[in-house]
Amino acid sequence: MHSRWNEEASNQFPGDLAQRVYTSRLLGQDSTLVLHGGGNTSVKTQVANLFGEQEDVLYVKGSGWDLETIEAEGFAPCRMKDLLRLAELETLSDPQMAVELQKSKTDPSAPAPSVEAILHAILPAKFVDHTHADAVLAVTNTADGRQRVSEIYGDRVVVVPYVMPGFKLARLCAELFPEQAGPQTIGMLLMNHGMFSFGETARESYERMIELVGLAEDYLAGQGARIGKSSAPDASERFLGGQRLELAELRRAVSDAARAPMILRVNDDDAALDFATRPDVAEIATRGPATPDHVIRTKRVPMIGRDVDSYAASYASYFDEHGDASLTMLDPAPRVILDKDLGLCTAGRTAKDAGIVEDIYRHTMEIIGAATELGGWQALDARDIFEVEYWDLEQAKLRKAGSPPPFAGEVCIVTGAASGIGKACVTAMLKRGAAVVALDLSADVAGLHVRKDYLGIACDLTDGSQLEAALDRGVKAFGGIDMLVLNAGIFPMGAPIAALSADDWRRTMSINLDANLDLMRACHPLLKLSPRGGRVVIIGSKNVPAPGPGQAAYSASKAALQQLARVAALEWGADNIRINTLHPNAVFDTGIWTPEILEQRAASYGLSVDSYKTNNVLKVEVTSQDVAELAAELCGPLFAKTTGAQIPIDGGNDRVI
Ligand code: ZN
Repeated sequence: MHSRWNEEASNQFPGDLAQRVYTSRLLGQDSTLVLHGGGNTSVKTQVANLFGEQEDVLYVKGSGWDLETIEAEGFAPCRMKDLLRLAELETLSDPQMAVELQKSKTDPSAPAPSVEAILHAILPAKFVDHTHADAVLAVTNTADGRQRVSEIYGDRVVVVPYVMPGFKLARLCAELFPEQAGPQTIGMLLMNHGMFSFGETARESYERMIELVGLAEDYLAGQGARIGKSSAPDASERFLGGQRLELAELRRAVSDAARAPMILRVNDDDAALDFATRPDVAEIATRGPATPDHVIRTKRVPMIGRDVDSYAASYASYFDEHGDASLTMLDPAPRVILDKDLGLCTAGRTAKDAGIVEDIYRHTMEIIGAATELGGWQALDARDIFEVEYWDLEQAKLRKAGSPPPFAGEVCIVTGAASGIGKACVTAMLKRGAAVVALDLSADVAGLHVRKDYLGIACDLTDGSQLEAALDRGVKAFGGIDMLVLNAGIFPMGAPIAALSADDWRRTMSINLDANLDLMRACHPLLKLSPRGGRVVIIGSKNVPAPGPGQAAYSASKAALQQLARVAALEWGADNIRINTLHPNAVFDTGIWTPEILEQRAASYGLSVDSYKTNNVLKVEVTSQDVAELAAELCGPLFAKTTGAQIPIDGGNDRVI
């Protein structure tokens, strides 16, 4: 473990709070120290109030901020005198503590202080750093962890037995720290939880953390139990087409247990498969999480294999046994699934959540592996874990989380996604919370968005093996397909029928019709498994109801596609799949319409560009975004009882009306 401190960089952060920002980010940059909102830091300083009086204030990490990206406003300023008085109380409920912490702030608009704020206040140093470092967890989560900790640290850290994070822990530390701390002490270790370090400067506190965690790493290495070997996934693609349906079935079962659509992500790299296929996996992986901080994301234990019903039932009985069974009604679905063929599958209401669960579990696999080599992995007992989970659920109820976006947990394929209407459909779907698999012939599609809920694949849909591979990748990333927006198509050069070449005709049919049939057919079993029912949107054309001369191939291909959609609506209704069509006209903000072509066309009708664009009954311009928004709405609840419909989006066309 090396220090990332850089003198020059640190000079860009003058003052106590800025220094606190700088080294907090250094901690956040190392995922073996701090993961996704885990860990917290503080600095004690003085701030002048409105009356010019200096007040002692603790700036402590606010909830909702990650150390890696934290800014000064991510720290909540709390009055030290209030925090220290709270630490003297005999008892205080955690909800009441949360209220008192909010009241201690000098700035009401600052974020809610970390639940560990009182712990930070009682440690007698200016800067305090706290992490849930992998190496520390691997050492403490063993049967003789307490003894190993003494061996590693001697009297350099005060050791606190496990107590659930919250007021009780703060109270215990307030009691134990003054009793046990000596001149050698530079940290405080909480068993099965994590490490605190402290110092008079940001650098001192940070580098002590690095040193303390480094000692645990060295100890592990000395015992042949190295950590951090393979926490990153490798790029191997093992997922086979035959597993597509199995995975979609598993995702459907997880979604049913969660009573909401869920994203399910497959990680079948070496590290994941090695762990999932360990002969002792069912035994070691179900002992509990590495730190209470992970429970709310990963659930108490992973599911081994694919029996979601049994998992949900045992989750319910675990709540029954320990307390409030009504809480299980919230969501008994697994978040981590270990399967010998699929490897590590992670579930979440969004692709981002599933990604966070993946990160956490990759570290958990490392910690369990190292602790096992050390002589035996031992997690918290079920009662302790239950308390944390129960507390988190209570907190979640208090937080009154806003309702999720309409397509949260759902997956949409968009074809022809790199430009024009397709690109706008991607945006409309992402905006509504769907994960998007974007397909296009153009390689640009891969980099259209860089986010966990987007997968862009360059792919020729007329090539069956490319289409199959793209579906495999999409299902591997998100677990299934709920929506299909068939937008890809070509608009060939016009030609009268007498002069139409057979090649042009076939090519147009192959792209605009055959490729869509292939994709619909391949997606049907996946759409059938959609938790809310599958939806298909066809981007048709005004040329279907009102063809023009010179476009026989295009008009015939779109009309045939329309007829295909109508038959699919009849055949797939029993599978709860809806198919509806939009007929756009004169959408000019697409790749094919350059300003020059637009001008030429407008001139050929004797119109200005503006009147050419709005040459319809309503005199409005129809944009890609207009079409995309309607396409997305067709997949939503407004159209839940509509299938087989054809809707014009053309500003009103006198030939269609
Ligand atoms: Zn903690």
